[in-house]
Amino acid sequence: MQKEKTTQMTIIPDFLIIPGQVIFSPKLQPLDHKVYGVIYWLHSLKDGRCSASNIYLARVCFPCEKDNEKLKTKARSVQNSLTRLENNGFIQRIFRDKAKKMRGEILPLVSYRVSLNDDTVSSNNDTKVSSNDDQISNISISKSKDIVASATSPISNYKNPCFKDGCKKEAMRGKRFCSEHQLMNLAQFVTWCKESNQKHIEIIGEWAETVKPNFKTVAQWQAYINRNLRPAKALIPFDREQLEAGFERIEKGIKEGWLTEYSMETLFKFITNANK
Ligand SMILES: [Zn+2]
Repeated sequence: MQKEKTTQMTIIPDFLIIPGQVIFSPKLQPLDHKVYGVIYWLHSLKDGRCSASNIYLARVCFPCEKDNEKLKTKARSVQNSLTRLENNGFIQRIFRDKAKKMRGEILPLVSYRVSLNDDTVSSNNDTKVSSNDDQISNISISKSKDIVASATSPISNYKNPCFKDGCKKEAMRGKRFCSEHQLMNLAQFVTWCKESNQKHIEIIGEWAETVKPNFKTVAQWQAYINRNLRPAKALIPFDREQLEAGFERIEKGIKEGWLTEYSMETLFKFITNANK
């Protein structure tokens, strides 16, 4: 009983840091904010990584809930929050198996850190980060000694270095890594393209969904877009039905084996020939 009580006590964070981007996103729900704050707390302030289970996250988000059955229901709500947070680019779940059953870690992608460069820290800031200064106890819980951010600064003004060891590049806006180190798989790329309001990007997404290239980073996908920009733009005038028919023919050709060499130009040819 005593032990149970201590466990419950220790998992309540002193502070939750929730980025404005998360709080003000119209695509998220209130619980999502708390879940993000807890992931960020575990990852950046407490354990150095967030490998917590859904039930653990539910316990932290609902510290007053002691009923195990109700906590299981809360854990399912947490699961939905994670999906929304990931679909909107705020977190990334890393799995240890292909079936995505075993979760290794959750990475928060909006960071509070600003600069890793010590010479940008003024003497004033140096005093601020000393750990025995009572006034800044909320800042000193961080492991990073160079947090100089004010929570009111717009994210776009942040100098936010890539988290990859040794990488000197700037992290992507609202992300932890630069485009070379920021991971993106096919499914994430396709989702991203679908949400674009530019027709040629949507077409490139559909093309990727059809031919399934195996790229892993944002930079690789950016290069992929650039390579396909011209043929994708040439496809803008065609309507949905014509495009569908072209994609279907490509898919059929790959499946049946008579189409081995193909590019977006092939798609263009298929569509224009079908018109004649
Ligand atoms: Zn990098």
